[in-house]
Amino acid sequence: MSRFFTPALAALEPYTPGEQPAVPDLVKLNANENPYPPAPGVAAAVAGTIAGLRLYSDLTEARLTAAIARRCGVPADWVLCGNGSDENLLLAIRAFCDADTPLAFADITYSFYPVLCNLLGVPARVVPLRGDFTLDETAYYGLGGTIVIANPNAPTGLLAPPAAIERIAQQNPGSVVIVDEAYVDFAGPGASCLPLVQKYENLMVVRTFSKSRSLAGARLGYCVAQPALVADMNRVKFSYSPYNVNSMSEAAGAAAMEDEAYFQKTVAAVCQTRADTAAGLRARGFTVLDSATNFLFATHPRRPAAALLEGLRRRRVLVRRFTAPRIQNWLRITIGTPAQMQRFFAALDEALGEEDGN
Ligand code: PMP
Repeated sequence: MSRFFTPALAALEPYTPGEQPAVPDLVKLNANENPYPPAPGVAAAVAGTIAGLRLYSDLTEARLTAAIARRCGVPADWVLCGNGSDENLLLAIRAFCDADTPLAFADITYSFYPVLCNLLGVPARVVPLRGDFTLDETAYYGLGGTIVIANPNAPTGLLAPPAAIERIAQQNPGSVVIVDEAYVDFAGPGASCLPLVQKYENLMVVRTFSKSRSLAGARLGYCVAQPALVADMNRVKFSYSPYNVNSMSEAAGAAAMEDEAYFQKTVAAVCQTRADTAAGLRARGFTVLDSATNFLFATHPRRPAAALLEGLRRRRVLVRRFTAPRIQNWLRITIGTPAQMQRFFAALDEALGEEDGN
């Protein structure tokens, strides 16, 4: 820290993203990226923007917003695009929280929420999950402040029924309830809170192109809410980074959103591999939570997760572990291609054997 860094942020603890090492032949299962390439139309769509790059991007992201609105069945002014969900979460917390309006979230959830609270001077109100990592909806009733719920949750992969989130929104009519649906496309039909946005003026759904649309590097996310909430978010956006979505990402996102068949095909492939991988882990003695996402959360009754992670890493297979006390003995394993998961299991079997001293 230099002597110029503002003392107001001296205690800031930045988020630690999954590593992105440039190791050849790496099986990278640590950041919940999609193993399949973006939709085939994305390359031409991005190439088509190059000539126009001398101009600023479209402030309203009209083409992308229209594609999202069409797919979500809402008018365009119910949609706001951003530079990844991470930016939309920042805009929302800036818009709907302050020193007297805390942000409530689970003890085990996306660890970026407390980081944003620290950055923005917003008190965090931590609401523990139950012992089995499911959402204790009644703990949110009448809570006030602002609420963010990742659903499906990360890193557990568990889905809470939208009806539970609906009751939380009903029980907190004075609060904005943000539903972070980064992984919902892997959760099957009926998992999204999107239909609730029509009914509740205090509910916002946050989505990303990083997972199910294979565009993590494009940095693209969107939120859907009634126009008044979207207008609030826009007030913050235009006070901070008006051109937050660049032209290339906008074109990439629109092309990805318009290719429904490719989306369905790749999501189905990931879900099939998820089922096979869960079965393989259970056959090796792991406890695996039921995942509604593109990753699995697993623990072994006898093998410390830290040692397994190291054993996998030595074999060029990267997975993720978190150090929060309740989950430090768990591994989060992103679902890759079937070939990648074969290499994962080969490395895992060696690591398990090594632990045995064989
Ligand atoms: N929410 C959750 C629950 C996530 O796991 C992630 C990915 N790390 C994000 C949001 C951020 O996604 P994006 O790449 O769109 O910023």
